[in-house]
Amino acid sequence: MTAQGQHQTASTDVPRRNWAGNVRYAAREFHRPTTVDEVRRLVAGSSRIRAVGTGHSFNRLGDTTGDLVSLAGLPPTIEIDRERGQVTVAGALRYGDVARHLHGQGYALANLASLPHISVAGAVATATHGSGPAHGNLATSVAALELVNADGDLTHVDRDTDGDTFAGMVVGLGAFGLVTRVTLDLVPTFELRQYVRLDLPVEALDEAFDSAYSVSVFTDWRTPRLREVWRKQLADQPPPETDWLGTTAADQPRHPVLGMPAENCTPQLGVPGPWHERLPHFKLGFTPSSGDELQSEYHLPRTAAAGALAALAEVAHLIAPVLQVCELRTVAADELWLSPNHRRDSFVVHFTWVDDADAVLPVLAEVEDRLAPFAPRPHWGKVFVTAPTELAARYPRHADFAALLTRLDPTGTFRTDLLDRYFPR
Ligand SMILES: Cc1cc2nc3c(=O)[nH]c(=O)nc-3n(C[C@H](O)[C@H](O)[C@H](O)COP(=O)(O)OP(=O)(O)OC[C@H]3O[C@@H](n4cnc5c(N)ncnc54)[C@H](O)[C@@H]3O)c2cc1C
Repeated sequence: MTAQGQHQTASTDVPRRNWAGNVRYAAREFHRPTTVDEVRRLVAGSSRIRAVGTGHSFNRLGDTTGDLVSLAGLPPTIEIDRERGQVTVAGALRYGDVARHLHGQGYALANLASLPHISVAGAVATATHGSGPAHGNLATSVAALELVNADGDLTHVDRDTDGDTFAGMVVGLGAFGLVTRVTLDLVPTFELRQYVRLDLPVEALDEAFDSAYSVSVFTDWRTPRLREVWRKQLADQPPPETDWLGTTAADQPRHPVLGMPAENCTPQLGVPGPWHERLPHFKLGFTPSSGDELQSEYHLPRTAAAGALAALAEVAHLIAPVLQVCELRTVAADELWLSPNHRRDSFVVHFTWVDDADAVLPVLAEVEDRLAPFAPRPHWGKVFVTAPTELAARYPRHADFAALLTRLDPTGTFRTDLLDRYFPR
């Protein structure tokens, strides 16, 4: 199980638990190599090995009983290719750090998640997403990956030359190797304004989603209306009118979780600012969300939004007592095999639960049951209880992914219990 080799670098700098603290990693050894050659030796000498990013996932997808490797010790390179409009970054870098640099150089990424603290490779591996009907999840910006494969070789796959296989590997769940570098598409930098509006009627949800660059809606399932709309609009777009969609304007900054400090959140009240300081809800220098929490999230067809909300309303009395906040978003369809947005423009329902798995899991089973008619695809990095056969049926390329895993990692070097459960050999 243990990686062999004279340069082995067991390290105390690698987190032993995930960010939320609900997963204690079962790895026998932890490593923080500082060169790609060291990464290669670690992989070549190990029978079970995984990468960990910033540990912001809530399940055991990234866990292993073998070697757990943080690539945060590799050189933090950010190389912009102005001709191609792309940037190649060290996979372990946080989106927030990459974004700040890009903005300084006149560039942006098309979208970001709600927090800038996550690593690029870890976020891409789980198809992490932001919101916006025209924007794919973060993995759709990936043009190429450099990774250390099961043989310990450094390999390169890219969108232009590796076609369908590339589409299978991008949302790779960490199962094809340790991603050392990621190439991302760029757009010119831009400015946004963020407005928070209160008490949206459910019937106006679709119109709200389509009203701006990126829109998130928060509810706590305690009132018939949706509590808050976070509208992130291009800075030169006119502000929402006074009675926009029957809402009122928030007159002070908000945190999505009631009672938490708005200071942790990106500026609101229509103050213009760069894309990377408005698209995430949380500031890089502050703790995102509440910390004491579990999260789950389901991607549904966009057309199922009204039906799914009505189905969930029937169990609102179960959801509300164990919920901190529920967020509704949209994501554009894509072709990546394991993307929850694969060939579906999506309506996405997220739950930030209280930090009490015993209380949450029965409610989660109820939520999944209510959403089942809409073929929900769970977020790969969050808590879900979906049966493997059901999950397989919701991904048209599931069998292709399982076959690709067997072809590229025949001895299961990068396998985990969770992967074995959902992609049996
Ligand atoms: C407060 C909070 C807010 C969140 N907001 C959002 C959101 O807005 N949208 C959303 O979609 N998700 C969100 N998430 C979930 C989060 O984005 C995902 O769980 C993401 O995978 C976390 O990235 P990470 O770097 O922490 O990855 P980790 O949790 O460390 O790892 C995730 C997976 O990626 C693999 N991996 C990591 N690094 C590498 C590498 N270098 N090579 C190969 N595989 C690798 C791991 O093995 C594991 O399987 C949120 C999570 C938290 C805690």
